[in-house]
Amino acid sequence: MIQVPSPLRLRLDSNALIANWRWLAARSGSAACGAAIKADGYSLGARSVMRRLTAVGCRDFFVATWGEAAALMPLPEGVSLSVLHGVGASDMIAARTLPVRPVLNSLEQVARWREAGEGRPCDVMIDTGMNRLGLRVEEALGGTLNGLRIEALLSHLASADEDSDQNAAQLAAFRAVREAVPARRYSLANSAGICLGRDFAFDLTRPGIALYGGTPRDEAAGHIRQVVYPETRVLQVREVVAGESVGYGATWTAPRNSRIAVANLGYADGFLRCHAAADAGASWQGRALPLIGRVSMDLIAFDASDAGAIDEGDWLALDYDLPRTAVRSGLSQYELLTGLGARFERIWI
Ligand SMILES: *Cc1c(COP(=O)(O)O)cnc(C)c1O
Repeated sequence: MIQVPSPLRLRLDSNALIANWRWLAARSGSAACGAAIKADGYSLGARSVMRRLTAVGCRDFFVATWGEAAALMPLPEGVSLSVLHGVGASDMIAARTLPVRPVLNSLEQVARWREAGEGRPCDVMIDTGMNRLGLRVEEALGGTLNGLRIEALLSHLASADEDSDQNAAQLAAFRAVREAVPARRYSLANSAGICLGRDFAFDLTRPGIALYGGTPRDEAAGHIRQVVYPETRVLQVREVVAGESVGYGATWTAPRNSRIAVANLGYADGFLRCHAAADAGASWQGRALPLIGRVSMDLIAFDASDAGAIDEGDWLALDYDLPRTAVRSGLSQYELLTGLGARFERIWI
């Protein structure tokens, strides 16, 4: 195969990832701190994230599907992996073959695992108010789970990123279930839940977004470091005359004679049109290049008039601070990360 250099790359900061995990682990108190690495590690690369976090002591990982779990084989020594979406009838072969636990989400799945799980351990999700996945609290009581080898009993917070009464209500409901259902460990908090305080940590926390540089709540601001730095290469630098327009729909007109840097990036890479808001842009050697005009499928334009000697082949660093970019674009920090496409080469630094 010919090696083709990519004109798009994500610089991924290993030290920032590790520092974020360590901060979340410290905030988790005596609870173990795991990692949600579904959606290919929020698009950074699940295997790369797992390797880096395992090296600093993280032992508990969560993916969404059995396909994601299978792609992570073989697991590093001593690592536990759970599949959040549970075990459907068509998942049983994978579930019996892989050294991975299902998170049982319904009475049907409990019955299926009792019947065909050969006594192997599982996790169980209890729905304490989100009404997405999991057994209802009343379904979990009264002995339905007796005899299962429950490694971790989970629930998931619906509004942890807000100061909502639902947080205390879910905490109370989870405590009640914990009294009634024996399990080796109990786990409630995602990234935002960790910020809510030690009461929410129980035995095991499951951060995702904050590992990757997202700020789930104000408590994390100033502690969570940016991990993902998207960069794109300049394809062409062109001069436009005052009054000429740039791009589809001619939405940007040059107020003066301008230099335009056209780069290899577009909505097909997850860089959507909604990024083209007032203060979006990139930088090159410390100089700001405002984004101009509409984002195309594979191309994007910047005003490089103040960017000195920028030229074809130069790398532009996109402004991609997650909380700020989320506000600007109207996308969530989760959408910003998981949308970053396959054409970015992932380069860990
Ligand atoms: C995705 C997910 C997490 C991680 O959530 P973040 O908000 O990214 O920290 C934790 N638990 C469950 C069940 C999840 O689905």
